Amino acid sequence: MKRRMWILGTFAVLITLAFFIAAGDAQPGTVKQIVPGVWFREGDLKDLGHCNNIIIEMKDYLIVVDANFPSGARLAMEAAKKVSNKPVKYVFDTHHHGDHAYGNPVWTQAGATTLAYKGVTEEMKRYEPKRWLATAKERKDVAELNLPTAEPPKQTFDKSPFILKDGTREVRFYFFGWAHTRGDGFVYLPKEKVLCTGDAVANGPHNYTADADVGNWPKVVRSAAKLDVQHVLPGHGAPGGTEVLNGQAQFMTELHSAVQAAIKSGKKLDDIVKKDGAKLVSTTIQLPDGVKNWVGDGLAAQVRDAYEEISQHKPHGDVAHP
Ligand SMILES: [Zn+2]
Ligand SMILES: [Zn+2]
Repeated sequence: MKRRMWILGTFAVLITLAFFIAAGDAQPGTVKQIVPGVWFREGDLKDLGHCNNIIIEMKDYLIVVDANFPSGARLAMEAAKKVSNKPVKYVFDTHHHGDHAYGNPVWTQAGATTLAYKGVTEEMKRYEPKRWLATAKERKDVAELNLPTAEPPKQTFDKSPFILKDGTREVRFYFFGWAHTRGDGFVYLPKEKVLCTGDAVANGPHNYTADADVGNWPKVVRSAAKLDVQHVLPGHGAPGGTEVLNGQAQFMTELHSAVQAAIKSGKKLDDIVKKDGAKLVSTTIQLPDGVKNWVGDGLAAQVRDAYEEISQHKPHGDVAHP
């Protein structure tokens, strides 16, 4: 009897382990050190809508990558306090989306300087205050700030790379072109070979294409991949290596060419995406197994965006959309 219990217990442990392995290495809410002085906090995208944050330790201060939503900003701030007693001096917005930049006022009120490529401010001018006001209706953390619109980054650069350097570390901020948004900034640590990508690279089915240039996206990722990179820290999903860069670029290439082939064969949008009212539910477009890590519920919307981009001969961000 005892032995039987032990066997059952062992099976339960094995089944639990198998579940954790099958669920991938997603570990929302955890903070792990990538290299000495660089920490990755995985945001809880599913339940809280948060992005990932990276904390970089300089000689006298910290740099945080992405402001996150206000509630995510507070969690990242707590994480920063746990790993170091140095103050957060810079918070880099990789792009203008709410889950990366709506926490800006939380950081600036705490004394940090928000920083971004100038395209981030330009995107905010394009889409705000409409998105801020719509988000405030859905998210308490945004509503509670009681502000009329998103707070743009306090400091911007237009010459890539912008460099912060001291006796201990060099951090480069790059713009490689329009991929996920017109403002996509990358953060690169040349000595440590760490690349923070924002949403230009996701590890998993987290690609949002509404503000994107789908056709140009792979070129941007391939430019970033020319850097000497060992650790890839994406905007969403788990950290990885260069396979995440290559897979992301390949996914966008496959998406674009599959939709282009459908258009060439005379297919209409309604032939390749199925709708339930205004909601997209599925697509007939199938992408190769090699990019399945990036394929998920969002595929129908990605197909629609690529279709509109190709058929209207302009980046999807320039096609009228909310
Ligand atoms: Zn995001
Ligand atoms: Zn985004």
